Amino acid sequence: MTEAYQPETLAVRAGRVQSQFNEHSEAMFLTSSFTFDSAEQAAKRFIGEEPGNIYARFTNPTVTMFEERLAALEGAEQCVATASGMSAILAACMGLLKAGDHIVASQSLFGSTVNLFNNVLKKFGVETTFVSATDVAQWQAAIQPNTKLFFLETPSNPLTEISDIAAIAAVAKSCGALLAVDNCFCTPILQRPLELGADIIIHSATKYIDGQGRVLGGAVLGSKKLMEPVYGFLRTTGPTMSAFNAWVFLKGLETLKIRMDAHSANSLELALWLEQQPNVSRVFYPGLPSHPQHVLAMQQQKTGGGIVAFEVKGGKQAAWRVIDNTQMLSITANLGDTKTTITHPATTTHARISPEARAAAGITDGLIRIAVGLEAQIDVQNDLGRGL
Ligand SMILES: *Cc1c(COP(=O)(O)O)cnc(C)c1O
Repeated sequence: MTEAYQPETLAVRAGRVQSQFNEHSEAMFLTSSFTFDSAEQAAKRFIGEEPGNIYARFTNPTVTMFEERLAALEGAEQCVATASGMSAILAACMGLLKAGDHIVASQSLFGSTVNLFNNVLKKFGVETTFVSATDVAQWQAAIQPNTKLFFLETPSNPLTEISDIAAIAAVAKSCGALLAVDNCFCTPILQRPLELGADIIIHSATKYIDGQGRVLGGAVLGSKKLMEPVYGFLRTTGPTMSAFNAWVFLKGLETLKIRMDAHSANSLELALWLEQQPNVSRVFYPGLPSHPQHVLAMQQQKTGGGIVAFEVKGGKQAAWRVIDNTQMLSITANLGDTKTTITHPATTTHARISPEARAAAGITDGLIRIAVGLEAQIDVQNDLGRGL
């Protein structure tokens, strides 16, 4: 299917292949290998002279359907599906970087990404400089002669800081570096980073693309040329997406647009309600006019998204009281689910960061993160209201 179709249409129809059985819904091909008609055909497939499946570490038709559907939605030439969001980031780095290269990254990244850059890639001679998510001048100042990759995530977790993708892409271009954007929080429904000048998109499909908290998966997207070494790394080392998970994500993509619209509408309603609560000192949501980068957010993304953070008066004790007085909300760090989740970042997702670094990042002890689900907002408000 071509990109001339609207996103809603691509989400339900792009990348569909039919088998000889004329099934209407996408089939799940649970097979690790594929057979050949002859020795000659096997030989041609193995040397790449004839297209076709060989072995599921290389390709699988259900995974290919997912890749083509997500590529259509992001407007990317190619998508490479992976076993998780983290293996997507690893595959992108291993495919595109080498020892001696340098990364400039936002300091407001998913915790495991920071760990990957600081503790894993460093062992292989790739160094990372962390800079402010929002101050473009810091990205410019961090450039070294060996800088090959810029990496950011917007909105950030949990404070929903907005990085200016177009401005940071321009800085990356000026030094010949690639810009990778982790588009997990917005999905292509709300934000299309390639159109803003990014070169690579990363997804944790585990979150909104699944949308119901069932399986892990990820994806790397970009030009055919950039994806070739990324795919090469996966094919050799094996953190590929399973056919079962790809089938779950294919079905998730079909409802992504209506879910993202509902997550966004519910989040805005909750954020406005939180701003009215006397024991809430601050609300962080890009869709609120009070958000410091509201104008940029509304240019760059269609809505404020599905994550709301807020600070309660009284520090950790007060925050824990709000969490412990909920009866319905799920106390878990996952996000992008139909079920609303509640987290205390300072003692969970960001607990291993030093208190000084946490304070510098603005993650106070009174901060609570809500990943807003699809329940009636009155029920979510009543649940939060008890502790507040
Ligand atoms: C969850 C997440 C990841 C990691 O994805 P997994 O599927 O858990 O490996 C990466 N980036 C962001 C922004 C995430 O929220």
